[in-house]
Amino acid sequence: MEVRRQIGFYVDSTKCINCKTCEVACKDFNDAPVGRRIRKVRTFEGGEFPKVFAYNISMSCNHCEDPLCVKHCPAAAYTKRPGDGIVVHDPARCIGCRYCTWVCPYGAPQFDASEGRVRKCNLCVDEIDSGNSPVCVISCPMRAIEIGELAEIATRPGATIRIRALPSPELTRPSCRYKVRAEAADD
Ligand code: SF4
Ligand code: SF4
Repeated sequence: MEVRRQIGFYVDSTKCINCKTCEVACKDFNDAPVGRRIRKVRTFEGGEFPKVFAYNISMSCNHCEDPLCVKHCPAAAYTKRPGDGIVVHDPARCIGCRYCTWVCPYGAPQFDASEGRVRKCNLCVDEIDSGNSPVCVISCPMRAIEIGELAEIATRPGATIRIRALPSPELTRPSCRYKVRAEAADD
């Protein structure tokens, strides 16, 4: 799979206040039913009193460089666009077998029982093709979410995808980077 260019999310977790506006805006834009969160904001806690910590990770699909969803979907419902590396799921091709929900280490594909098929973040691809930004980026009041060229966001000071609470990035090589507090980094 040759990709000429790769874009992805850059999230400054140190700015995130866990308001979940990005999650709700994404849900509304995608008309997701109750219980389905295409973007999720999760809080991780640790430490011992009096040295405790918590951090928030807002994540949807990571548009991985080596996406297991693309490799394992028997219906070819997933494609990785060569022009920008966005991993797009086509619900019209989806047969609802749920393989992608088992192989994605990040829980990005969400099965919708009422529709009998999966939904996933397509990085608001129609908005991007129209020159606009994804809904999560626009809605975040803290301006914590951006999209950018992976080659650029990966070189920002402190940018990492090695985060204690997340799976090993070697599994799929996610096209996202986070700025996190020291307690969250998995060095
Ligand atoms: S909208 Fe921004 S500040 Fe609020 S939870 Fe999402 S990333 Fe965090
Ligand atoms: S995060 Fe999961 S669904 Fe998204 S591209 Fe990677 S493997 Fe596929």
